[in-house]
Amino acid sequence: MQLTDLPTPSLVLDLDRVERNCAAMLERARQHGVTLRPHLKTAKSADLARLASSGPTWPITVSTLTEVAYFAAHGFRDMTYAVGIAVHKLDTLAALHRKHGLVLRLLADQVATIDAVGRRAAELEARFELLIEIDCGGGRGGVTADGRELLELARAISAWPSLSLVGVLTHAGQSYATAGAGSIAAIAETERSSALRAATRLREAGFESPVVSIGSTPTVVWAATLAGVTEIRPGVYTLFDLDQVALGVCTVEDIAASVIATVIGHNPRSRRVLIDAGALALSKDQSANAFAEDLGYGLVATVDGARVMAGLRVAEVHQEHGLIAGPEPVDGAGTDDLFARLPIGARVRILPQHACMTTAPYGHYDLVRGESSEIIARWHKASGHTVTTSDWSPT
Ligand code: PLP
Repeated sequence: MQLTDLPTPSLVLDLDRVERNCAAMLERARQHGVTLRPHLKTAKSADLARLASSGPTWPITVSTLTEVAYFAAHGFRDMTYAVGIAVHKLDTLAALHRKHGLVLRLLADQVATIDAVGRRAAELEARFELLIEIDCGGGRGGVTADGRELLELARAISAWPSLSLVGVLTHAGQSYATAGAGSIAAIAETERSSALRAATRLREAGFESPVVSIGSTPTVVWAATLAGVTEIRPGVYTLFDLDQVALGVCTVEDIAASVIATVIGHNPRSRRVLIDAGALALSKDQSANAFAEDLGYGLVATVDGARVMAGLRVAEVHQEHGLIAGPEPVDGAGTDDLFARLPIGARVRILPQHACMTTAPYGHYDLVRGESSEIIARWHKASGHTVTTSDWSPT
């Protein structure tokens, strides 16, 4: 099968690039002497996880119940669920835990949540490992490394025999608000030192904190040192995207996931080329535009991925329509050139703004290698938030 045989829109993965991205991060982890626990919320694929993680326990990070069920069903046993836990998820998690013999680490930053989780876990006769979430400046979840809440949370966890405290976790989400190696490295240092400070305070107060878990892709790429850190959890590096290019974390040649679309129309009034990949196929994310020239909702490349088509971007998206614009026309110029470059029926490859958002709704990837148009494999992936009883029932 060839790229031209795929229905459009289709999600395509360049296996050469995935292998390169995964190998580079494993090597980075090895050089820093830390465990790589890749965040699979980006790729949601067991095949990819086997390239991104490594033995003997194949640790991974996930962000939904669906991902826990999917990766457990594909043989992964060591997972950190890196979104603050909600107690109603415990029944499903306990069943998956029992069925697959998982090591499942949960995240909390509220005493009330810990008490509810401890109580429900006891009722379910389950035991969970807990990480305390640290806010190192991103302003999302977590408590500060220096605040009194940290030790209150540790005491609350210790009060429940159904829970055990295993350490601290932080994610420097603020690394997405700055660009360039120097400023990202400064945030990486804040991320590292906050996590280490929290773990040290716990240890000094007599609590166990073997795990010091940090990571976003920008910070682990540019961190000067990871001293004291035990594991890193980058995720988007597996696929990379225009946002990471704009932040200075990778190049366009590292982007592994893209969307194949068909040209379905020409509109001379709006000077737009219509494709059958809109907001649902590409997402409405435009994060890269804060640090780059206007990349619209994605850059247009030739269908074989060999080159980005100069000046072409998806300028507008509707649910199932994408509208490609060319460079601003010189006075009096028509649209002949733009329409000739993209004739009706032609196929294009769209490089995504934010790989996590673009790939999430798709059920599989079709794989190619480099500029070859031959589809060499199909990798199924998790998507959505629905966990069916058959995913976790003990039978
Ligand atoms: N850990 C947590 C808790 C996250 O929320 C994320 C991403 O949102 C990551 C790790 C991975 O970071 P990145 O997407 O920069 O690779």
